[in-house]
Amino acid sequence: DAEGSRGTWSNARIEPYGPIAMDPAASVLHYGQEIFEGLKAYRHADGSVWTFRPHANAARLNRSAERLALPQLDEEVFVESLRRLVKTDVSWVPSGDGEALYLRPFMIATEAFLGVRAARQVSYRVIASPAGNYFGGELKPVGIWVSHNYARAGRGGTGAAKCGGNYAASLVAQLEAEENGCKQVLFLDPFNEEAVEELGGMNVFFVMKGGKLVTPRLTGTILEGITRSSIIQLARDRGLEVEERTITLGEWREGINNGDIEEVFACGTAAVITPIGVLKNGEEQIGDPDAPAGAVTMALRTELLGIQTGKIEDRHGWLEQLA
Ligand code: PMP
Repeated sequence: DAEGSRGTWSNARIEPYGPIAMDPAASVLHYGQEIFEGLKAYRHADGSVWTFRPHANAARLNRSAERLALPQLDEEVFVESLRRLVKTDVSWVPSGDGEALYLRPFMIATEAFLGVRAARQVSYRVIASPAGNYFGGELKPVGIWVSHNYARAGRGGTGAAKCGGNYAASLVAQLEAEENGCKQVLFLDPFNEEAVEELGGMNVFFVMKGGKLVTPRLTGTILEGITRSSIIQLARDRGLEVEERTITLGEWREGINNGDIEEVFACGTAAVITPIGVLKNGEEQIGDPDAPAGAVTMALRTELLGIQTGKIEDRHGWLEQLA
């Protein structure tokens, strides 16, 4: 935990896990002035513990902070906060296949007042939890539900920030997806010919015939995933062309039906890379729910997870040792 006011941080400390005491008028409770990050720490074969591109998470936290009128946090302080927490008890970091310690840094406005304005007192904390293999061993394509009733973000909104409010607004769409037998919801940009934005907690990629990758461009309403940017790099390293551009629901439908789109996958810190099987658009089903994961999807997944777990050389210097 650390307390801050206008970007001056003090009182950094490790505390036992437990409830946070807060004034009932703390502005985070009323106006949702809150941002967070998510990273994983993996135990490598020699017992050391490493995380993946934490400076990218620190930079994103600071972009979110700017949008939510919260103070900046020094990138080194961010990485050091992860290191100190992990070193408190390294035995938390699991070593099973695909297992990791999930790290959740967050910043909340703790100042007590009722008028609507940016708080001057905030608290930055990190909690951690062992995370099992997201798929329980077997990698199964996920079903996706197209949300037409709810948008995740709009122009000038907070879509590019990792703030609690975005997720609060997405929960009803997530429930709708689950009611329709889907694991994740797909958000569209309703103001741009139903352009595909992202899933509830993941970015989306299309593998086109011939091997080219297409992913929605960052319009300011999509979260800039760290997994997304890593995949773009790994794909280019393999000589694959990557296009960041608008892709609509119509192009998705047509591409699956005429074979121009060969694979669709989603990516994020939690699942790393997961194949997308079927897209449910109301009564319409696009794709085959039982299709096996594609070759490009699997190759990128194996490579990225291999780098994260220390089994494949980290040629981009993406890993940072925590313990
Ligand atoms: N989009 C959303 C809405 C997310 O919540 C996440 C998870 N942080 C992502 C994309 C993927 O981001 P990352 O690869 O940094 O985990």
